[in-house]
This record gives sequence, structure tokens and C-alpha cells, in this order.
Amino acid sequence: MANDYLCPICRGQLRIENSLVISVKSKTHKKGLLFLNPEIGNYGKASHPTFEIIQGDEYTVFCPICHATLNREENPHLVKLNMIDAQGVEVDVFISGIVGEKCTYVVKGKELQESGPDKNIYDKYFDIPDADKKYL
Ligand SMILES: [Zn+2]
Repeated sequence: MANDYLCPICRGQLRIENSLVISVKSKTHKKGLLFLNPEIGNYGKASHPTFEIIQGDEYTVFCPICHATLNREENPHLVKLNMIDAQGVEVDVFISGIVGEKCTYVVKGKELQESGPDKNIYDKYFDIPDADKKYL
């Protein structure tokens, strides 16, 4: 069974069949929907052909249900989602809002699982107390 993803704000279901659906906006204010692969470590993505996702661009990510911003306030490069894993356990999942950065952080209580070839980019974010994250 694929992992379920919830918006951390409204707790709406963001996975439909085999896609995690998010709403995104580029720095140049181009908006669209993006389908991500819900499997951890799979960086497959799809958008409508008229909405080009540009490598290296940073996107603001919104919940498509409640429209809350999912980028973290203390580090807007990171986007937080809630995930229900195959065991039914709810964990926090962080992904990069920059296209092409392949890193995923799964936080389960005090446990951190990092994956992806770019996982070193943000690993320090998870090493320090929440109050200090804004200095990164
Ligand atoms: Zn929401």
C-alpha cells in the first residue's frame, strides 16, 4: 500500500492513487499543480505540459485543499508534509522546495531517516533545536 500524505494544517488527504498532489508557485508567480511520486526516494514528478517545472527553481508549495503554505517559516527551502506509513504510523516528511534537490527527511519521534543523493544539504537543520533553525 502506498503511503498516505496529509496536509499538516488541514489534515486533508494529498495522495490520490499514485500521486502526491501539491499546488506550487514559482518565483515569477507561475502557478500550477504538481504530482509527485509518494514513494520515499522516488523523485518522479509530473505537471501539465503548459506548466514547465524548471530545474533549480525554488517553489512555494501550497496545500491544494486549504491553500496553506507548506514551506517552513524558519527555512523556506524545506517543505513539510505528514505521512502515514505502511504500519499506520504518522511521521513528518520534509522535502526540498528547490527542483532537482533530491533529499527526503523522515522524522519519527526522535528518529531521523535521511535519503536521496542530496541529503547532506539540509542535514544540519535536523541537528539543532527548533528555536535556532532560523539562523541556518
Ligand atoms: Zn491543507
